[in-house]
Amino acid sequence: MKEKKKNNLKSICKYKKGDVEKNMDLILSLVESPKYICKKCARVSNNKKYLCHSLNMKPKT
Ligand SMILES: [Zn+2]
Repeated sequence: MKEKKKNNLKSICKYKKGDVEKNMDLILSLVESPKYICKKCARVSNNKKYLCHSLNMKPKT
């Protein structure tokens, strides 16, 4: 029996309003000290996996 554990990894870019509310804890943890920005959606995250077109932001020095 093949059963792949599907990681419910979904880019926050794809989140709709309702999703945002449901996943607020996750989103809050992702947008804390963000390192990446999505070129398409202007969303930010500290984990590029959660962005559809992540772009590494230059660290502020
Ligand atoms: Zn995006």
